[in-house]
Amino acid sequence: MIIAIDGPSGSGKSTTAKILAERLSITHLDTGAMYRAVTWGLIQQNINLRNTAHLIDFLSKINISFNKLNEIFLNGENISLEIRKKDITSRVSLVSSIVEVRSALVRIQREMSEDMDYVIEGRDIGTVVFPNAEYKFFLTADLDIRAERRMNELTKIGEDFTIDEIKNLIEKRDLKDSTRENSPLRKAIDAIEIDTSSLTVNEQIKKIINIIKKNK
Ligand code: C5P
Repeated sequence: MIIAIDGPSGSGKSTTAKILAERLSITHLDTGAMYRAVTWGLIQQNINLRNTAHLIDFLSKINISFNKLNEIFLNGENISLEIRKKDITSRVSLVSSIVEVRSALVRIQREMSEDMDYVIEGRDIGTVVFPNAEYKFFLTADLDIRAERRMNELTKIGEDFTIDEIKNLIEKRDLKDSTRENSPLRKAIDAIEIDTSSLTVNEQIKKIINIIKKNK
């Protein structure tokens, strides 16, 4: 069983996917973390995004894995904190618009979730990665609420942003993610849209679990 959860930044995907996976005792895959990991690796290795041969070589050698705490490792290195930093957040949408990056990560995502039940969150899970997913949800929320949620997450890990900076980054990222040529962020026709603006996390989860139970 695949439960796809897509939506823009700060719409509640990560929190929802994490708790939903715990409640259903299945695995949670954060594909955004994978695009961030690739962005981090490209910066570390100083790879010019326009040098396609170099980029393809880099992508053919990457090894992305998660541990039980859902911390992410790129080629064996735990980079869970690094990928949440400002320089990665401001560059990840550019990297994720590159077709070679997308095909490499989509392939890895499909391989990882073979033969197992998964809650997978991202931007293109219900449209491209798993168009036949059993359940598809598309989460949305008002920009102000999304910015506040991001601010809380970032403050927790010691990242210093103003609320306007966050709003700006979110808007830029959403625009780039939803207008790119390759698998843009959009709701799959058969996804159920949930506006989480005025919902508590518990209410969000309850809503999703009820829909899953009803359709079982
Ligand atoms: O979810 P998160 O904010 O960590 O995602 C970071 C970025 O990764 C997004 O802004 C988007 O550019 C990219 N992404 C994507 N496709 C996915 C998941 C994330 O393009 N399935």
